[in-house]
Amino acid sequence: MPEYPYLYNIGIILSQRELEKQLIDNLPELDLKLTNIKKLYPNNPTLYLKSSLGDMFTFLLNKNKITIWNYTGGIQIINNLKIPHNGWSVEFTVKYLFEQLDNFTNDFVMCKKCNKIVHYSEVKNNVDIEGIYCDKCWLDKGSNKKKEYRKNSCD
Ligand SMILES: [Zn+2]
Repeated sequence: MPEYPYLYNIGIILSQRELEKQLIDNLPELDLKLTNIKKLYPNNPTLYLKSSLGDMFTFLLNKNKITIWNYTGGIQIINNLKIPHNGWSVEFTVKYLFEQLDNFTNDFVMCKKCNKIVHYSEVKNNVDIEGIYCDKCWLDKGSNKKKEYRKNSCD
């Protein structure tokens, strides 16, 4: 195989209206369709969402739970959100989901721990595998780790 400098991927565009409709009215069918598409290709293909501004997100639908990351998969924006979320209507849950993507596009993210809305550009280094944190929670996390370390060490 010849070597090329870039990679090109194929995709199918589903409009947001269509996606909302399927998330709200027929989630099991959407899950089945996406599962079947993934089964056609051996290397666990990545599913993407693309905003009208051209921003891309990767996502995983696992039955009625959805996780969404930024394009590279390095930042989790939606963590295993159940549709519907406990006590919410399906419509409200789907609205919440797209609001979080809009927020991320506009440089806002929610702190994983305290749910405070912060500028992504200001906290982009406060990231671990579970999510993104405001400065305060990130510092608290750091000092809790130190306390834990002290507790476990012999001195
Ligand atoms: Zn916080």
